[in-house]
Amino acid sequence: MVGPGLALPDAPEREPEFGHDALVVCDNLVRIYQTESVEVQALQGLDLLVHDGEMLAIVGASGSGKSTLLQVLAGVDAPTAGRASVAGHELVDMSRSERVRYRRHVVGFVRQQSARNLVPYLTASQVVDLPMSIAGTPREERRERTGELLETLGVTHCADRRPQEMSGGEQQRVAIAVALANKPRVLLADEPTGELDSETAQEVFAALRTANQQLGATVVIVTHDAAVSDQVARTVAIRDGRTSSEVLRTGDTAEAPGSAEEYAVMDRAGRVQVPREFREALDLTRRVRLALAGDHVEIRSDRGDRA
Ligand code: ADP
Ligand code: MG
Repeated sequence: MVGPGLALPDAPEREPEFGHDALVVCDNLVRIYQTESVEVQALQGLDLLVHDGEMLAIVGASGSGKSTLLQVLAGVDAPTAGRASVAGHELVDMSRSERVRYRRHVVGFVRQQSARNLVPYLTASQVVDLPMSIAGTPREERRERTGELLETLGVTHCADRRPQEMSGGEQQRVAIAVALANKPRVLLADEPTGELDSETAQEVFAALRTANQQLGATVVIVTHDAAVSDQVARTVAIRDGRTSSEVLRTGDTAEAPGSAEEYAVMDRAGRVQVPREFREALDLTRRVRLALAGDHVEIRSDRGDRA
């Protein structure tokens, strides 16, 4: 036991590794797509930390790099540069067999198109059983886990139905069950409500919350719908392949939503993106003046300085 009066020997001053206590670490992640004529920088030095047990939304306009990021975290795509690590697995130099194991056991994935998450000729029970069967889980354990997952996600009544006999919301909830079958640490969902009306979308969000709170998965949801920040405690915005701002919600209760506060993200080099409205309002362009003003930092136009 270490009491308050006990002096520990001085530890050598050493900066802990970036994100050493995070479950998901993206450190200066770069993904460049090379086509015949052009080079697209889908991720441009993206930093992101997600802690164990979080439920996080990533929002951004179409083309901002959201799907690319999820593909990297899913172990489907490899970054061009930078570091990505999930639950202690370094994704950049994973061997092929490690990658198979990683995709099977460490992450679960839910796509936008509910039909593509399922198999047309398999019932909900059969499709949830499939990943466990591939992983070699004993039959009895599989049966039990399948029943449990369908029940927890509110789709027991779909057990013997095929996708075409389910609603879009039911299909997505079964898809979440499939993704969670092998007990992954992280559940990744790419626009999981993109094809659903808002009421059904609520139902799928509730299922994702259940995955997070009752089934213990860390959940990362990607969407172009900024309204999801009402659904989660933390929303990270991506702009041009980088994280640019975060909205944190605090004090939510079952009865009333708490308050939401928006923050800009500062990277490790100290870079902050100033929103376009601010830049335009004050004519901030290539050069600005910075001043430390007691408890805050001022950014001013260099207009008066320009000759
Ligand atoms: P989002 O999911 O936010 O809409 P994406 O990650 O799909 O964005 O795409 C980011 C950028 O990368 C876009 O400009 C897109 O056109 C480009 N991109 C995505 N996938 C590929 C690919 N396989 N080949 C070439 N460019 C791609
Ligand atoms: Mg996308």
